Amino acid sequence: MTNKSVRDYIRTIVDFPHEGILFRDVTTLFADPRGFRIAIDQLLAPYAGMRFDKVAGLEARGFILGGAVAHQLSTGFVPIRKKGKLPGRTVSVSYQLEYGEAVVEVHDDAIQAGERILLVDDLLATGGTAEAGIRLIEQLGGEVVGCAFVVDLPDLGGRKKLEAMGMEVHALCA
Ligand code: AMP
Repeated sequence: MTNKSVRDYIRTIVDFPHEGILFRDVTTLFADPRGFRIAIDQLLAPYAGMRFDKVAGLEARGFILGGAVAHQLSTGFVPIRKKGKLPGRTVSVSYQLEYGEAVVEVHDDAIQAGERILLVDDLLATGGTAEAGIRLIEQLGGEVVGCAFVVDLPDLGGRKKLEAMGMEVHALCA
């Protein structure tokens, strides 16, 4: 029986997609049956006994994690996507990247007012993507009850940013 932790299944690729970036590649975690299972179990652990109406996942790796988490919680799943990908009527939020701007969208009927939402993504860096996702959910009247990530890069300030918004942040490793 292995005692590998979630962190041990994640590979780091140097200089991807740009020089100077240490890319945390979770495909090696997803590809391993034990790794994927313990990641989903650990993402869920702090929420035992809590009620959620939906899980929202951030494109793209948040879809893989969020789908499995939603299945486990027996909730619906809502994709938060990059601009122009969703076919129905959407609401959108733009946010700053290091170079330029990005826009995320959600279908305007995907979340009902008062619904309790768990936000899921693979990695928290500056928190810009998660913050935009939270703003989208809140625009629709949803309440973000938790934000769960596999990796937190605390030096980039994302956790502080989300906590300053009153969010509960849960991450499995740094
Ligand atoms: P941020 O908005 O800065 O918190 O960035 C988080 C988003 O960008 C997540 O959806 C991640 O998948 C992706 N991301 C940012 N930095 C990295 C990294 N070093 N390795 C892998 N993914 C990253």
